[in-house]
Amino acid sequence: MKLNIKNTFTKNLPADPILKNDRRQVEGAVFSYTEPKKTKAPKVIHTSPEMLYALGISEKEVQSDFFRDVVTGNKIYPNTQPFAMCYGGHQFGNWAGQLGDGRAINLFEVEHQQKNWKVQLKGAGETPYSRTADGLAVLRSSVREYLCSEAMFHLGVPTTRALSLSLSGDKVLRDVLYNGNPAYEKGAIVSRVSPSFLRFGNFEIFAARNDKNNLKALVDYTIKHHFAHLGNPSKETYILFFKEVVNSTLKMIIDWQRVGFVHGVMNTDNMSILGLTIDYGPYGWLEGFDFGWTPNTTDKQNKRYRYGNQPNIGLWNLYQLANALYPIINDAAPLEEILNAYKVDYETASLKMMQSKLGLFTNHKDDLLLIQQLEENLHLVETDMTIFFRQLGNFTKESSLDALNSIKKSFYNLSAVSNDVKSKWQSWFLKYADRLEKESFSDAERKERMNAINPKYVLRNYMAQLAIDAADNGDYTLIDELFLLLKKPYAEQPENEKWFAKRPEWARNKVGCSMLSCSS
Ligand code: AMP
Ligand code: MG
Repeated sequence: MKLNIKNTFTKNLPADPILKNDRRQVEGAVFSYTEPKKTKAPKVIHTSPEMLYALGISEKEVQSDFFRDVVTGNKIYPNTQPFAMCYGGHQFGNWAGQLGDGRAINLFEVEHQQKNWKVQLKGAGETPYSRTADGLAVLRSSVREYLCSEAMFHLGVPTTRALSLSLSGDKVLRDVLYNGNPAYEKGAIVSRVSPSFLRFGNFEIFAARNDKNNLKALVDYTIKHHFAHLGNPSKETYILFFKEVVNSTLKMIIDWQRVGFVHGVMNTDNMSILGLTIDYGPYGWLEGFDFGWTPNTTDKQNKRYRYGNQPNIGLWNLYQLANALYPIINDAAPLEEILNAYKVDYETASLKMMQSKLGLFTNHKDDLLLIQQLEENLHLVETDMTIFFRQLGNFTKESSLDALNSIKKSFYNLSAVSNDVKSKWQSWFLKYADRLEKESFSDAERKERMNAINPKYVLRNYMAQLAIDAADNGDYTLIDELFLLLKKPYAEQPENEKWFAKRPEWARNKVGCSMLSCSS
């Protein structure tokens, strides 16, 4: 396996001079060199053909012991030096101090087809940033990250990618419900890939420590390697850089709202500087459309990271990034202006996104009201978001009296659909039919466009859990089946119709299906 290694990050940024792998505060450095832990019986159970191709790894090389050993941390690729990054973060609204790559180890950068990719292992052992934890990951959370990050890419949502999913062969102790019942689970390692794994927290840590030199060095590096079109570092470039991060974060969140993805832990250490979805932990997919839903049991009380609050939290997190960048800009006004624009820009983009989900591609003054009424209706009884919007593509004016019938498939409990609920839907469909008159597309064209926006297949929480349960018993076929299914989330796949279904009742309150803890 011959990779085109290019280590821009470690070459250009200050390293922690201490090489000892003990847990500590690391000051004055962007990262610490550290080595992955050797594992007992590493075994690759899935790889992403697209990411292999992106890195220039052949099908034959994937079969080699060397590939297995590299992606499980058992061998270090020649002339590379793995490292963990230092970052801080605001967790659930509070400054948490130094966090860092506690169980992520960066292997190297690969340059291929004019692209620079960072390759990182998740769950490969302790680093100086592991705090009180073990640096390991279990199979269930690794399957979830592996499948979901690739699925998100195919949905058109900006995201980090996954290269491989492996078993470590070691056992990992976890207390899934945090109720004093820890148990051993299979350990796993995901190798993941991204142009950058930098988070808001990488910048925040230097501002918090008044380390302006390293803050500037990191911002300059980021601009040079990821925002080169902005030009040489200067106050103006820093402001433009911030503006781009705001825009890409906003775009990512609009996409989350569009497909019904709830991240679950939008702490600033989980916010990518490139606006990519990063750190798939207790995330979840909306089944019933509900602005108040959060998959994360740790967030059950305040629901800070609930579906309907993701846009606000995005802005809150951007405020923290603005504060972190302030010391090298020394001017609050332009940053405030950009942050104020987020609210307006979000409303505009959100309206456009919702219009497109409804097949409305022109602007009309009552569209916002129509959408608000739809959202109210979606909350009347439990209504499956994915199925509802996909079925809506079949709507025609001629069939408007029968519209309720066509969306019936999305109601979880038909007997809860009272006459009152029915009449609210009927009146909405009449308005919708009138509104569609103002569009120029034929029914078939509109359906085609809507089907490119409203996915048919998403990684429902129970689907991931089925794949996890099978994998736990040594059967990886469902991982592959879902991986392939989710490569074409917008396509009709008649042979896969069984996955276009509501969450089964057994999954309603099952751990891993409707609620997830941060334990992973
Ligand atoms: P998360 O909430 O998963 O984004 O993690 C927050 C912080 O905890 C990050 O610094 C992680 O690296 C660290 N962390 C989470 N799980 C572990 C673990 N098992 N071992 C070491 N560090 C961890
Ligand atoms: Mg994280």
